[in-house]
Amino acid sequence: MNKPFLDKLRKIDPYVPGEQPKTANVIKLNANENPYPPAPGVTEVLRTFDAAKLAVYPDANAKALKTALAEREGLKPSQIFLGNGSDDVLALAFQSFFCSGEPILYPDITYSFYPVWCDLLRIPYETVPLDENFCINLRDYDKPNGGVILPNPNAPTGRALSLAEIEDLLQHNADCVVIIDEAYVDFGAESAISLIEKYENLLVVQTSSKSRSLAGMRIGYAFGSETLISTLEAVKNSYNSYTMDSLALAVGEASIRDEVYFRETCRKVAATRDRAADELRALGFEVTPSLTNFLFATHPKKAAPEIFSALREKGIFIRYFKLPRIDNHLRITVGTDEQMDALIAALKQIL
Ligand code: PMP
Repeated sequence: MNKPFLDKLRKIDPYVPGEQPKTANVIKLNANENPYPPAPGVTEVLRTFDAAKLAVYPDANAKALKTALAEREGLKPSQIFLGNGSDDVLALAFQSFFCSGEPILYPDITYSFYPVWCDLLRIPYETVPLDENFCINLRDYDKPNGGVILPNPNAPTGRALSLAEIEDLLQHNADCVVIIDEAYVDFGAESAISLIEKYENLLVVQTSSKSRSLAGMRIGYAFGSETLISTLEAVKNSYNSYTMDSLALAVGEASIRDEVYFRETCRKVAATRDRAADELRALGFEVTPSLTNFLFATHPKKAAPEIFSALREKGIFIRYFKLPRIDNHLRITVGTDEQMDALIAALKQIL
């Protein structure tokens, strides 16, 4: 049967997230989630939250969470934008800042959602190759463009630029909005938030999903000049799906207010990461230096898809990307010490 409407539907290569195994007793190291629970204050909020509050709309200005973030970062609430996870914040930022029609720039190996948003929003883009060590060459970004977006640290490589390098990038890209996606910054890299007073075109995006163990709640934020933040607020406009709900606002605030728990969780993950990297190297893996909660590794003698499948059979889920240049690499989320011990023991058998 002729169905002309089919030609009118949007065709898109969707982003494929890491597998969410349904069986119990698996070791899940495939989505860069945090192996530790959220801060104790989060449990308290969930236990005591008054359901009657759900009868009214959430606070449109999100005053309490923005104030907590502003106090932590030494900013004004008007320099902060909130969304349902940083994916939402990024999607809105693409719509708000990358609309000149000129191609935006991002690394050729990076967070695989960027091309999806570009395709959806019809934003032209140009990818900038990483060097042979998966490093970003900043000089490659010195060309006319409609915007720049970089994860720092980058994903899935784990490598980070220093604050001085980010400032260099900003100095050479004053005519466009530069977005630094800091989803993994809390595990050892330097945040660019300190640069937002100086660079009105800088947007720093962070998330509660990784360092704050809140991937299931969807809490993301952006920091930037009042010019950028008010543009995001205007584009968002109304209580739509970008608006955080009242429960998430309360949970987010409880998490941000517990600095001690946050630092200790990040410290534990980073220590386990460094130990696991050494152990993987001892097994012959080449491991890219990581300042994140994951490791990016390749084994010169065993193909990555084989290792991936063999681990999967043993109930250990990691991530494999069938993409040019990295199709012999594996991305392994840092779990607890016990989980990483089980991973290393399984790899010893497989290799
Ligand atoms: N940026 C990067 C680089 C990521 O890897 C992720 C997680 N997949 C995100 C943003 C989005 O995280 P969330 O929406 O959970 O905040």
